[in-house]
Amino acid sequence: TYDEQLQRMKQFIESGDDFLVVSHVNPDGDAISSTVAVGWLLNSLGKSYTMMNEGPCPAKFHYLWGARDIIEVSHAEAHKYRYVIAVDCADYQRIGKVSERFAEDVKIANIDHHATNDYYGDAHLIRADAAATAEILYDLLEYFGIEWNQEIATCIYTGLLTDTGGFRYTNTTAKVMRVASQLLDYGVQAGELAEHLLERVSKPHIRLLQRTLNTLAYNADHRICWLTVHLSDMEESGASNEDLEGLVSYPRNIEGVEIGILFKEVQEEVYKVSMRSSSAADVSRIAQHFGGGGHLRAAGCTVRGRLDDIIRSVVQEAEKELMANGSA
Ligand code: 5GP
Ligand code: MN
Ligand code: MN
Repeated sequence: TYDEQLQRMKQFIESGDDFLVVSHVNPDGDAISSTVAVGWLLNSLGKSYTMMNEGPCPAKFHYLWGARDIIEVSHAEAHKYRYVIAVDCADYQRIGKVSERFAEDVKIANIDHHATNDYYGDAHLIRADAAATAEILYDLLEYFGIEWNQEIATCIYTGLLTDTGGFRYTNTTAKVMRVASQLLDYGVQAGELAEHLLERVSKPHIRLLQRTLNTLAYNADHRICWLTVHLSDMEESGASNEDLEGLVSYPRNIEGVEIGILFKEVQEEVYKVSMRSSSAADVSRIAQHFGGGGHLRAAGCTVRGRLDDIIRSVVQEAEKELMANGSA
């Protein structure tokens, strides 16, 4: 049960030291928030720990406590860790190159909210009905009885805000709202955070959007719609990966569209596929077909091959999913 998992996780954390806290590649708001929230917990327990990610922490999350202490794996000193806490990572591969820093006899705590999580750890704290890993960490911090203040509350709130798309997605449960309400009582500046994280966009993002909208395409019955981003678009827009955020909402939000897709060229003949659903169609099933994963309404995978072949096969799988679970 979840209570047993909390108890087991507490034991794991109390019995270890020199922890490595890691999240998934291309970290999002929940990944960063969850990383620093675990850092906060370890810090408050007097444990020694290192927070690490395969890539850099996006600058827009630098306001979070501890965010600037998250080390990029290529900058980390040569040291291997025996105690790892992985947050928001549905499977081992999502940890990326940070797993090269795991000791031979590593023990992994797996804290996550993805239904596709494959329980790769030694201790697990997993609740697929949680909106964000940060929501689970709220429970864990409560279980430890930490003293709340604005800084740690802002970390948890950021994960909730970003993974629920500003408390709009269907994962926005009554529990999410209760937790958020509690966090506001601890001093979270909700308006400022929403403006900073959800409303503001970078100029590279707008330039990328301008170019990318020209690639908009539909399948035969217009229930599937997609955009394509080439490496040259990224370069010419001066965009980095964080500037991609939100693009996939454009195809998804069009009336009649049930599955929105973004095909993003990662390198020659390698594409990151992001999928969003606006109906009962389960995009995580499509992603899993291509070795990826995610949630019912947001999922992704990486596919190799020629772009037109990839589009054809992903759209074909999406059509199968619409046949099985779509609205009509
Ligand atoms: P995004 O499209 O924003 O990259 O990801 C949407 C959701 O799908 C996220 O919850 C993320 O965890 C999941 N996801 C994206 N790419 C992958 C992938 O390659 N493998 C797995 N297992 N999940 C992914
Ligand atoms: Mn995430
Ligand atoms: Mn998450």
